[in-house]
Amino acid sequence: MSTQEHPLGVSFEFFPPNTDVGREKLKSARDTLAERRPRFFSVTYGAGGSTQNRTLHTVNAVRESGITTAPHLSCIGSEKAQLRDLLARYREEGIDSLVALRGDLPSGMGGIGEFRYANELVEFIREETGDHFEIAVAGYPESHPQAPSLGRDLENFARKVKAGANLAITQYFFNADAYFHFVDRARALGVEVPIIPGIMPITNYTKLARFSDACGADIPRWIRKQLEAYGDDSESIAAFGEEVVSRLCQRLLDGGAPGLHFYTLNQAAPSLKVLDNLA
Ligand code: FAD
Repeated sequence: MSTQEHPLGVSFEFFPPNTDVGREKLKSARDTLAERRPRFFSVTYGAGGSTQNRTLHTVNAVRESGITTAPHLSCIGSEKAQLRDLLARYREEGIDSLVALRGDLPSGMGGIGEFRYANELVEFIREETGDHFEIAVAGYPESHPQAPSLGRDLENFARKVKAGANLAITQYFFNADAYFHFVDRARALGVEVPIIPGIMPITNYTKLARFSDACGADIPRWIRKQLEAYGDDSESIAAFGEEVVSRLCQRLLDGGAPGLHFYTLNQAAPSLKVLDNLA
């Protein structure tokens, strides 16, 4: 960890681009965000290993910035031998942080493979590689969409952390109380690792609404209504989004959140605007 690290303990997530233009945009976002000395960058992984090579290439491109970069790794649809090889490759490349996930299998894409849940992946990584990797897992303050209840999801979350995770990053949310409630209940279940809130800057209402429906993140009615009212006025959407997300982040930090993890969608500006509004 760098001594010059950003005082709020921020991290930024990217996805692997698949065009030359996308790769250039990512490099520019990486360089701008690296100047803020984040704790780490992370790079997403396509379901069923569909971006395995692109994730590794992107991780290596992002690491050129000198910032620790963690590949996401999802296990659903994978066999142990395949993940063993991938872990070995990451070690050879000098990668020592991972975000370990179950992932979602796209319909029509093979069987579930040898792993059913993320706790099994965390156990497997620890069995195979000991303490080599710092492992982050996902948490859901508003409950994972497939969980029968928030309580059951919290128990599953605690099991996954206890399998050997060092930290957790949450799904994004717009209601700070959901996060504080989640953290309190996780602590009551014996979870001691940092739980870093995931932050989604608001820039495009249509995409945000579609994505939120799919991942089970609630957009409060007053935010939906206001964003709808702006129609295609993207400047007003961005300004309102910046205000809402900045206030959310300030409340989270004031309430003791141990950092902020931004879902950048490979754009630096929306996250930086929020960051610059924070005390
Ligand atoms: P799990 O922790 O396995 O949970 C999945 C469901 O199963 C939950 O409902 C849980 O309650 C239940 N469950 C868990 N363990 C058990 C058990 N032992 N017994 C019974 N039930 C159990 N997706 C990608 O494809 N690529 C990515 O790069 C990616 N990055 C992400 C990063 C973050 C920070 C977050 C929050 C999500 C990310 N996702 C990504 C989405 C994620 O893959 C999905 O939300 C997926 O549906 C669940 O993954 P998980 O690791 O949380 O699963």
